[in-house]
Amino acid sequence: MHGEMLESISSTLATAAKIVRAGPICDECLGRAYAKLGHGLANAERGRALRTLLSMHNVRGKSGVCWVCGGAFEHVVELAKRASTMSEGIEFDTYLFGVRLTPRIMQGEKLYVERFPTDTYEPLKHAFNREIGKAFETFAGRGTVDFERPHLSYVIDLSSDRIDLKVSSLYAYGRYRKLVRGIPQTRWPCRVCKGKGCAVCNYTGKQYPESVEELIAAPFLEAAGSEKAYLHGAGREDIDARMLGSGRPFVIEVVSPRVRSLDLAALRERVNKTAAGKVEVSDLHFVSHDTVALVKETHAEKTYRARVSLAAPVEREKLLVAVSSLIGQIDQRTPHRVAHRRADLVRVRRLIDAQTKIASPQEVELTLRGEGGLYIKELVSGDKGRTTPSLSGILGVPALVTELDVIDVSAPAFPDTV
Ligand SMILES: [Zn+2]
Ligand SMILES: [Zn+2]
Repeated sequence: MHGEMLESISSTLATAAKIVRAGPICDECLGRAYAKLGHGLANAERGRALRTLLSMHNVRGKSGVCWVCGGAFEHVVELAKRASTMSEGIEFDTYLFGVRLTPRIMQGEKLYVERFPTDTYEPLKHAFNREIGKAFETFAGRGTVDFERPHLSYVIDLSSDRIDLKVSSLYAYGRYRKLVRGIPQTRWPCRVCKGKGCAVCNYTGKQYPESVEELIAAPFLEAAGSEKAYLHGAGREDIDARMLGSGRPFVIEVVSPRVRSLDLAALRERVNKTAAGKVEVSDLHFVSHDTVALVKETHAEKTYRARVSLAAPVEREKLLVAVSSLIGQIDQRTPHRVAHRRADLVRVRRLIDAQTKIASPQEVELTLRGEGGLYIKELVSGDKGRTTPSLSGILGVPALVTELDVIDVSAPAFPDTV
């Protein structure tokens, strides 16, 4: 036991002596070779201790710029200070540093590991990121490192001496109701200028003056001190369709927020007041980034109320039979009206339930429950034979949806996941 210990001490010192003799090296880099030895010590302390011990045996290193890191560790404090300044006015709990080394340092590190292999070594990047984090916490007076989802992500580029800061987005889940027709779900770039701004769109860059996205986002942007937000919906209704019932699930992503601790109850009130009569939100709660994909991938069943106009009068009995016979498989080739933005293919969807309310021989109100992705307007019109079966096809009478509302989106609950 004793023998082993003595052997380990002398081998540590022997290697350290070789390292120190090889060229000028900083305490951080010397200590890194023994990072797994001794708890609660910083690498620089390990390096200093070894150097002291070696000097007692007349082994002294050369002075000069560290041949491994090129003196990078000397800049840790200054870089951390700059990073801390960049975080001023931004609310955060967690951070993470990443460093891009210069080719010269990468070369030095490679050589160091090759020449002096130890099984107690800590890679330069790892040590550098941790040291800068420690210094950053001191300057900022707050923050803990988070390797998964940090609020602040710094990237330090040693070649250009640049520090980039990315503030992670904030995500809130909710459901929205759209009470009026004519508003798109998301900001819709002007068809003429593609969003740049032109005379046609009055230099707004937009095809429609407002969207569900913008109406919900405005109070969020203000409260979070952010300039950009995205609405990720669980599907979308047509511009001319209302979204009623308990609303459609969505996640609002607030980009680069300066404030993260938003009062969602107050924001809900604010949205519902400023967008009154147009858009209403409910169920707001914070979620993680993962919920965006979950919400977008939800192929929720939806229930629609469609007002249908028939080109010629149809007998009551015939109409009722025709509507019920639609229940089942529907083959839909990509509708004409969306063919410019979606792949042209045949999708198979199911109509789950259909109820008929006859207003007059040429006016009906249908309540239709279908799988996510079923196009209702085409189910009624047939879209020139692209959707089969269709109400128009079965009746042999042109039929058209004149008003469409989504009255229910069935979706799983998305819990708080922050
Ligand atoms: Zn060094
Ligand atoms: Zn334009």
